[in-house]
Amino acid sequence: MIDKKDSGQPVIGISCSFSDGRYSVPDGYINAVRDSGGIPVVLPLPQNKSEAMKAMSLCDGLLLSGGVDVDPKLYGSYKMFATEDICPKRDKGEFNLLDAANELKLPVLGICRGIQVINVYFGGTLYQDIPFQVKSLPGGGNPHRQTVPFPEGGHKVIFEKELWKVSAGTIRVNSFHHQAVRRPAPGFEVIARDDSDGLIEAIYSPACASHGMILGVQWHPEIIQHIDPDQKALFGYFIEKVRSGASST
Ligand code: MN
Repeated sequence: MIDKKDSGQPVIGISCSFSDGRYSVPDGYINAVRDSGGIPVVLPLPQNKSEAMKAMSLCDGLLLSGGVDVDPKLYGSYKMFATEDICPKRDKGEFNLLDAANELKLPVLGICRGIQVINVYFGGTLYQDIPFQVKSLPGGGNPHRQTVPFPEGGHKVIFEKELWKVSAGTIRVNSFHHQAVRRPAPGFEVIARDDSDGLIEAIYSPACASHGMILGVQWHPEIIQHIDPDQKALFGYFIEKVRSGASST
């Protein structure tokens, strides 16, 4: 029998979307985990806690991927017209995965929807629509939904705390979101903001140090990590935290 702890390659559970009877995950998440030395395993949204515990006990870390809006009732709000698709099955599955990751003290990385799920799970709130509640471009567009490819598209973020090595305090990120963290969950620190409108772009929980880390970023490092060393370093940081957790158990 192969002991996963002996392979040197940590197993990263990745959440997925559910739509039209299909579970799916963009290949960027798979590639990014592989490129950083991990073994990706897609987790099809456990609908009960025992399945989530069993699935997460086979993993060394959890990656929450991007996707549709979180149901606003989960952060005590009502659904505004600007909230787009929601998927209660996904909300429930990812909350179950977070329950299990917490219990097993596994590192967690959330990307785009993932930062929003982490923030809501731990008691924070979201803006339901950036152009409506924060800032619009002239003509009503969303400054966080790039319309041309990175690096021309996207926006800059300023780091308030450097968890992983970035080439400068301000970096350019790709951006495809219309919601964002509003009130960070208790115990979470803001580590990066948009350099123009100040929107929260990354949060981190030092209070959960026993996990190695719980980190969320609002942009999509998985799409650009193969061309951008700053984004590759983010995955390197995550995998390193996962490795150190895996080797200590
Ligand atoms: Mn953004």
